[in-house]
Amino acid sequence: MRQPVERSLSESLLAGDRAALARAITLSESTLPSDRDRARALLAEVWKHAGTALRIGVTGAPGVGKSTFIEAFGLHILRSGRSVAVLAVDPSSHAGGGAILGDKTRMTRLTAAPGAYIRPSPSSGAAGGVAIRTREAIAFVEAAGYDVVLVETVGAGQGEAAVASMTDVFVLLVAPAGGDELQGVKRGVMELADLVLINKSDGELADAAGRTCAAYRSALQFLRRRVSDPPGIPAAMEVSAMLDKEIDGVWEKILQLQEWRNREGHLVARRRAQADRWVRDAIEEEVLSRAGAPGDSGLPASLAEE
Ligand code: GDP
Repeated sequence: MRQPVERSLSESLLAGDRAALARAITLSESTLPSDRDRARALLAEVWKHAGTALRIGVTGAPGVGKSTFIEAFGLHILRSGRSVAVLAVDPSSHAGGGAILGDKTRMTRLTAAPGAYIRPSPSSGAAGGVAIRTREAIAFVEAAGYDVVLVETVGAGQGEAAVASMTDVFVLLVAPAGGDELQGVKRGVMELADLVLINKSDGELADAAGRTCAAYRSALQFLRRRVSDPPGIPAAMEVSAMLDKEIDGVWEKILQLQEWRNREGHLVARRRAQADRWVRDAIEEEVLSRAGAPGDSGLPASLAEE
């Protein structure tokens, strides 16, 4: 049942109003069933305006420089004349762990920029699956007119595959290693990455970054060959988020990749896979929320009553 208030919220959202966008995402994160219903109703109203952004996933272990990179990269995107939204996925947040992006002061310049919108991950008690909420948030920022959406996740294992399944391009950040070993980055995560960025390629770390980059480059050659990869992808690049080194190169590479995939029909296929996954996750969430807690019979309460 669509209420007039939701209609005006959808209008404000489509007009790019940041307060409306924040409200929409808050509804989607809420644990109240009535808020979830309103979020869904809102989604139904703005749905046809979503799907418009370039969706980029960014992952990496804590301390590799994700925040610093996202700020530098976001500012570069703004300079190119596009708007950018940053969302965070933190698989550990509902267990009470520290929320990434929880401290917006880490990205002060990007936060203050007019064309940027930054949404920290919910700290606790958020409803439903992390993936569902993030997909809804992506749809809302797209409806609000953002050109690029960056989805950040910590390199904790389960978050990466979820983020890769809802983005067009997936970027893994790593730090320079002492030797040329690949610092315990999980093979599965490397297989998801279109770009591996060796950050902190500056000062005393520059040499180590070069060696680490070479190690990744050769490892990536053996790792993956997908039909949706043009020659040269996956790629390893040295960057310095702190000094803005190669940040423009990363953006160029991503634009070229997206353009190639679009031209070759892979983007449509990828978006279809993203949508299919969304539907499956949404059905699963619905089934689980209706099932409730298991009853004495061991059956979910809703089945046991019948
Ligand atoms: P996150 O935990 O992955 O978000 O990492 P942060 O962005 O908070 O950065 C962790 C630390 O690495 C901070 O002290 C940053 O100043 C530093 N750092 C980030 N990027 C660079 C870089 O390009 N070069 C150097 N030398 N330090 C960096």
